[in-house]
Amino acid sequence: MNTQRIGTVHLVGAGPGDPELLTLRAARLLRDCSAVVYDHLVGQGVLDMINKNARRIYVGKESGRHTLPQDDINALLVDLAHEGLDVVRLKGGDPFIFGRGGEEIEQLVEHGIPCEVVPGITAASGMSAYAGIPLTHRDFAQACIFVTGHLQNDTVDLDWQTLARPHQTVVVYMGIAALGEICRQMMAHGLPGTTPAAVVRHATLPDQQVLAGTLGCLPAAAVAAGIASPALIVIGDVVSLHDRLKPAK
Ligand code: SAH
Repeated sequence: MNTQRIGTVHLVGAGPGDPELLTLRAARLLRDCSAVVYDHLVGQGVLDMINKNARRIYVGKESGRHTLPQDDINALLVDLAHEGLDVVRLKGGDPFIFGRGGEEIEQLVEHGIPCEVVPGITAASGMSAYAGIPLTHRDFAQACIFVTGHLQNDTVDLDWQTLARPHQTVVVYMGIAALGEICRQMMAHGLPGTTPAAVVRHATLPDQQVLAGTLGCLPAAAVAAGIASPALIVIGDVVSLHDRLKPAK
């Protein structure tokens, strides 16, 4: 084997779960690669599409529990490429939306490793289509904001003033643990308690769960329904369309 050859790393978005939402390019790379490094959020249907001879490396990342620290993941990608392997770094959704794709690419570029990014359907887009909640709508929302609701020191540090404006949709990633605090802050900054809001778990997968309500009642309802991560929180009048637009089963 020519040990001089450096492999290419493709940072590939796996979409929100349903394997049919992969891009054609992602499917081709999964078929042709020699190693795959994947996260917790990549669905089984997508993993089934990986070439059987490829080396598979799971690097975890369930909320708060990193199987491998980010620095080690970065180093792993560099090492695999130096071994001459063509690597698919597979990430849930889109690599550049709350996916730390920027950090990984930066490392690869610094080490002179050839790399490319393949976009994926982000969870919010998948959720929107599969739950019948348009992200924008001429009558209800002229803007859509994606934020992370990740808790740090038991608080969520967000620009509540901006998020609580009317006529927009707010989608919160990684926010389930902070759902109560998020709804409380949105109301404290001016949105009525009757504002439609929903949580959507396992969007696009066969066991997708949609819990629609209002800012005032959603936190208690989510606890009662036992909604856990991975789930999105959607806040805004577009949520009121869910009843009419949800796909027929
Ligand atoms: N890069 C990913 C997001 C990673 S952050 C993307 O573009 O979608 C992880 C968070 O994404 C989870 O905590 C959850 O809020 C959201 N998420 C990912 N997949 C999801 C799914 N199928 N259904 C609901 N939320 C999902």
